[in-house]
Amino acid sequence: MVETNLILLGPPGAGKGTQAERLQADFALAHISTGDMLRAQVAQGTELGREAQKYMNAGELVPDEVILGMIGQRIGEQDAREGFLLDGFPRNTSQADALAATLADSGRRLTGVLLIDVPDEVLVRRLAGRRVCVKSGHVYHVEFDPPKREDVCDQDGSRLIQRDDDREETIRRRLEVYARQTAPLIDYYEGAGLLRRFDGQRNPNEVHDHIRATVATLRLEDEL
Ligand code: ADP
Ligand code: ADP
Repeated sequence: MVETNLILLGPPGAGKGTQAERLQADFALAHISTGDMLRAQVAQGTELGREAQKYMNAGELVPDEVILGMIGQRIGEQDAREGFLLDGFPRNTSQADALAATLADSGRRLTGVLLIDVPDEVLVRRLAGRRVCVKSGHVYHVEFDPPKREDVCDQDGSRLIQRDDDREETIRRRLEVYARQTAPLIDYYEGAGLLRRFDGQRNPNEVHDHIRATVATLRLEDEL
């Protein structure tokens, strides 16, 4: 059995978390979100969490050494052995180089990089209206994907909150950081022949259908 190792790439608000939740169920992949891992550390009040929170609230990237330590361990865990779906990592070329080295060391490789494209003006509306479940991070939108009961998670009944970094001024900074530091990864992975693009302005089910079909093809190609 060949592993399926994927990266979800795209600006904040593109729908990476929304799609990851669906793809994880389709292909039994470990969903690895560095943002979720960092928020768990913040919630637990660990030293790593306290350090990371300063950067997150400012909309800046958390230093690479913090992230690389977390990721190196996580992709080696049992549930990621048959494949993983990275969401929010890598976020700059040095993280991408480090990932390549870690995978090569253990004889693993990437299956594909899935880019979800959405223009900035749409992203601002999406992020400003995003609500997340305090318990497990399920994602909603006040306008585009409202829960059945206001501020209550459909899936587990927990309270929905707005993330601290989903405020207008931080949103703008995060989009700048994406453009400067993360967008160069598009050429990086295109050059490696791994990039697949998706129109993230379609509704979540359509985006999901397109990505699922592409991942199924990538898996078949890999097995040949
Ligand atoms: P990311 O993980 O890329 O930051 P999310 O998956 O959290 O993005 O989505 C950002 C916000 O946009 C959420 O409120 C989500 O409900 C909403 N959203 C996600 N995908 C779509 C879509 N295709 N159309 C409209 N809204 C969407
Ligand atoms: P979004 O996709 O909505 O931008 P994430 O949950 O992926 O949000 O990330 C939230 C914040 O966590 C980022 O703004 C950044 O401060 C930090 N972060 C997450 N992943 C990384 C990473 N790979 N490298 C550096 N910082 C990260």
